[in-house]
Amino acid sequence: MELVNLKVASDKVNFADAVKKGLGINQGLYFPEKLPVLDNIDDLLAMPFVARSQFVLRTLIGDEDVAEQLDEIIETAFTFPAPLAEVTESLYCLELFHGPTLAFKDFGGRFMAQTLSRISEGKPITILTATSGDTGAAVAHAFHGIDNINVVILYPKGKISPLQEKLFTTLGGNIHTVSVESDFDACQQLVKTAFDDPEVRDGLHLNSANSINISRLLAQVCYYFEAVAQAPVEIRDKLVFAVPSGNFGNLTAGLIGKVMGLPIKRFIAATNMNDTVPRYLATGKWDPKATVATLSNAMDVSQPNNWPRIEAMLQRGEVLPEWLSGATVDEEYTQVAMKQLAQLGYVSEPHAAVAYKALARSLQDDEVGVFLGTAHPAKFRETVENVLGQPISLPKPLADCSGKEVLSAALPNDYEALKQHMFSILR
Ligand SMILES: *Cc1c(COP(=O)(O)O)cnc(C)c1O
Repeated sequence: MELVNLKVASDKVNFADAVKKGLGINQGLYFPEKLPVLDNIDDLLAMPFVARSQFVLRTLIGDEDVAEQLDEIIETAFTFPAPLAEVTESLYCLELFHGPTLAFKDFGGRFMAQTLSRISEGKPITILTATSGDTGAAVAHAFHGIDNINVVILYPKGKISPLQEKLFTTLGGNIHTVSVESDFDACQQLVKTAFDDPEVRDGLHLNSANSINISRLLAQVCYYFEAVAQAPVEIRDKLVFAVPSGNFGNLTAGLIGKVMGLPIKRFIAATNMNDTVPRYLATGKWDPKATVATLSNAMDVSQPNNWPRIEAMLQRGEVLPEWLSGATVDEEYTQVAMKQLAQLGYVSEPHAAVAYKALARSLQDDEVGVFLGTAHPAKFRETVENVLGQPISLPKPLADCSGKEVLSAALPNDYEALKQHMFSILR
């Protein structure tokens, strides 16, 4: 597969190089030059998850240095299911939270870690990434204990849930965490600055594990196939996916699935009050505002990283504008949605609730809604218990880390301070 830098068209790389580099020249994102279209969708949908995922990713990635290891990478990474849970006859939740850190990011994080450890040939690498909550945990667990790979994770101090924090800051070993005195966008900016600094980039062999990295994104395409495969045959062409969105990697993956031939009818880009994209889809104006903190904190992003990839698919005519609409759900309606879902017998958390609400507002009679369950409700225990007034128990991965000590360094929002810190712990 040839990937092209969306900012510098002459910067073209193969998959392995795109995974190693993360970002291209001028902080440009890599994206497949052309997406493949499959003509055997029905056969594929009849296959089991891992075998089908191997086929889908082999098709996407093609004849590459990693091709021979791809089957093994996927077998090692995709060790948990993505069940399509029926809420009502016309409403389903695609539960993406059955992995080790209880969020959908386990799919991409584990696929990337397995890929990178195989293509880096034992050379030391530093993963530098920013997290608004769940990326950190997924990346930390996916890379923990892998030889020659150090991980540095930045997160906004006090802006993620205490349990979320415990899940990735208590591992130690090759996992280094930093709480930054600012918001997620500032953390993301620090990461970008580091990638533009040759001393750090080349000196520490930087790699990003954000959804910027193409490997994470491609892995996520597989669970859209899995969702459609689990849907009863008679509703497969009526499916509307509502994707709770922050950096828009998840939605990008869904759109890639549709371009490849999945019979999904349309998508809703569902956001909280950080609604740059829904406003853009409605007005054509790109007008990011200051990020505000919400209950669905993993989506507190006002300058979404992956949007240029969706824009590219739109411009190339691979994605049609009518496949996509936006929805903004405020704090009050997020809570209303959680209560409504509970009344339907389904306990959910704020991110999925935003997507559910977007469906509830827009679904037509002949459509069937699928909202993505991006995290386990227990990851947002305080909020869920407050809103629903009922206790939730902790699943094992959370119970195990809840008593451990947070090992993070605390830094101001200052690039020089971060640089000093990284050199002191890694050199
Ligand atoms: C990361 C995350 C999102 C946002 O996903 P993007 O791919 O960044 O749009 C939504 N919900 C949860 C729980 C997340 O962790």
